Amino acid sequence: RFISLEGGEGVGKSTQLRALAAALRARGHDVIETREPGGSAGAEAIRSLLLDGDAGRWTPAAEALLFAAARADHVAKTILPALEAGQWVLSDRFLDSSLAYQGGADGIGEAVIRQLHQVGSNGFLPDRTLLLALPEAEAAGRAAARDRGAADRFGARDAAYHARVAAAFAQLAAGDPARFRIVDSSGSAEDVTARLLAAIDDL
Ligand code: C5P
Repeated sequence: RFISLEGGEGVGKSTQLRALAAALRARGHDVIETREPGGSAGAEAIRSLLLDGDAGRWTPAAEALLFAAARADHVAKTILPALEAGQWVLSDRFLDSSLAYQGGADGIGEAVIRQLHQVGSNGFLPDRTLLLALPEAEAAGRAAARDRGAADRFGARDAAYHARVAAAFAQLAAGDPARFRIVDSSGSAEDVTARLLAAIDDL
């Protein structure tokens, strides 16, 4: 099974990915944890190109192409081989991040991002996408608390940008209810993990 975790900055994706993987392993599953951009040698190299340097290093179109190229490598080199070996794959972000950030918030458009994904990764999709959602004020507080701004060049985005991302994610989830589950990520980490497990119970 292939599961992606999505959401804006500060929703606790990375922590929850680890916890969800541990819970699945405790149930006897063989699980790999991976991330986007990255998750394979080539894609991690592209991640450095994307996250390092100054804001404005890439045009939005160049950035969308780099994300799609990283995903193509990630799918071919890491995700598909793991699925073929019978492993569960949990990815911190996948296509929907590109649809929300590059497609929605950066204005490239959803259709173009889907075309790039078709070319690069044959349109490959997760079995389930878990969208972690927090009230906006709480998400901003958490993001500020971990000082994402200093961590990469995307830290300079403003509140309006993050609001566009959140709106795009919500719209994506509404458009594909079979694949998406929206999971409330407020409360204790244990509570959130339990909600995530419930949201993949049918798998
Ligand atoms: O998941 P994480 O927060 O570590 O992502 C790293 C950075 O890349 C974040 O600032 C995120 O907003 C950005 N990103 C993006 N477009 C994507 C995926 C990630 O702008 N498709």
